[in-house]
Amino acid sequence: MTLSLKRLILFVALIAVLFTLSISLYAGYQMERETLMENTLETNRSYAEKLASTTEDYLNSTLQTLRTSAQTVAPAMNTNEEVLLNEVNRLKNHSNIFNSVAVVDHTGKILAVSPEHLNLKDKMFSSSGSIQALKAKKPLISKPFISITGRLIIMISYPIFSEQDEYLGFVAGTIYLRERSILNQLLGEHFYHDGSYVYVVDEDGRIIYHQSSNRINDVVSENPVVQKLMKGQNGAQRLINTQGKDMLAGYATIPVAHWGVVSQRPTSNALAPSNAMIERMLWTSLPLILISFVIIWLILTKITQPLQQLAHLAENSSENNRQQDIKNIHAWYYEAIQLKKALMTSFHILHERVNDFQQQSSTDPLTGLHNRRSMNDCLAQLVSNESPFSIILFDIDHFKKVNDTYGHAAGDEVLIFLANLMEETTREEDICCRYGGEEFLIILPQAELPLAQHIAEKLRRRLEKTISPTGKAITISAGAASFPDDAAVSDQLLHLADQCLYKAKQTGRNKVVISHTPS
Ligand code: GH3
Ligand code: MG
Ligand code: MG
Repeated sequence: MTLSLKRLILFVALIAVLFTLSISLYAGYQMERETLMENTLETNRSYAEKLASTTEDYLNSTLQTLRTSAQTVAPAMNTNEEVLLNEVNRLKNHSNIFNSVAVVDHTGKILAVSPEHLNLKDKMFSSSGSIQALKAKKPLISKPFISITGRLIIMISYPIFSEQDEYLGFVAGTIYLRERSILNQLLGEHFYHDGSYVYVVDEDGRIIYHQSSNRINDVVSENPVVQKLMKGQNGAQRLINTQGKDMLAGYATIPVAHWGVVSQRPTSNALAPSNAMIERMLWTSLPLILISFVIIWLILTKITQPLQQLAHLAENSSENNRQQDIKNIHAWYYEAIQLKKALMTSFHILHERVNDFQQQSSTDPLTGLHNRRSMNDCLAQLVSNESPFSIILFDIDHFKKVNDTYGHAAGDEVLIFLANLMEETTREEDICCRYGGEEFLIILPQAELPLAQHIAEKLRRRLEKTISPTGKAITISAGAASFPDDAAVSDQLLHLADQCLYKAKQTGRNKVVISHTPS
């Protein structure tokens, strides 16, 4: 199947529209993703900073509280246990900061503890946190460690000094990392339903707060964001975390504790709206695409219609009346107008050629009269129409002599001269034919024999009186017959006329003999 112009253009338009649509959708999609990512990173960065500064403030005020307690218990360190117990209970119950509170002397022995059911009084506080505190003799937020009760904890401690600046021990509060603690309150049950959450690491990259308690105590120092926190930096970035998940994270340090807060959201989660956006864009643009296709289709029809019609006519150029059909085509733009003109011209030329050929095939080239073929057609037509007519068949007398005396060219001149005289003498509707050589036939439609005889006589008389190109007149002998009186078919009629002609020749030439005597 040959592709039509219309289909081709439509195909190209379809590709162009789809291509443009994909590009704009893709560009929109990318922009939306970038915006979503930037917004998520910014949200997480500011949230991490906010949490970090709240926690920083909180830890500072906690150290402040412990300092007050240290001053309160200092005079009663080895003298008044009740003061110590009251103070640890007050700290534990009223401040709601710690999971447990203890006063420890300079040897590491626990002097008072709250809650009391821990049964730690008088025991030696030998965990790494207490050793650290005893050694440092200054305010301290410990690294996570396993307490003597087997819990993972951090300890915030403040040293106790006597009035004489003698180190007496420390007062300490613990925070249980794997149980509900102040960290939960501070950092919140922070996770949206969209999968974002917060975690806190210490200076070694160890998780000390996480929404999933089984992650607590994991070391995630490989995490690129944790590495930045360990260097003391704040910021936001996209990363692949230690569990291979793509995340958008904001992070901020808590300088007083050398901790870092990370607030993060899975990238796929943050970008989910961009997929919905693409779907929305597709649905909104679909009607527009359909409308634009209808418009393209209509315009294409307008453009291709004249070309289609011209092509159709060119394909069927042999059929009649094509020129009128071409004229009716509405060619409204340059190419179509030119094609229409060209097709009109070529059809016109073709038409003329055909006419010429028809003329040539039916005309005798020397005299311009109808030739034998045309004569036969004409006779057959009249016979089949049963239309009455007569014929005059005649032959130039002694024409051989003309040729012999004046030459063949002069003979031709005489034939042309005779043909002209024939046309002049006969009626408009009569058909003059060259029967062959120097024999001629006149068909006289609707003429009966007497009229044929009359016209034959007229011609004979004119010839005998008219000087021919040879300088002398010529004469003819003629026979006439009529249809349907004399014959039912044209061959018979011709034969009869020929017999009459023969008779004319036989009986002295320069005469007209008719087939029968009219009644
Ligand atoms: P007749 O009276 O018996 O008819 O005598 P004729 O000399 O005319 O005899 P005939 O009809 O047999 O001779 C016909 C001649 O016409 C013979 C031929 O040379 C000549 N002729 C036939 N066609 C042409 C032609 O086209 N041009 C010329 N110049 N001569 C032709
Ligand atoms: Mg002859
Ligand atoms: Mg002759």
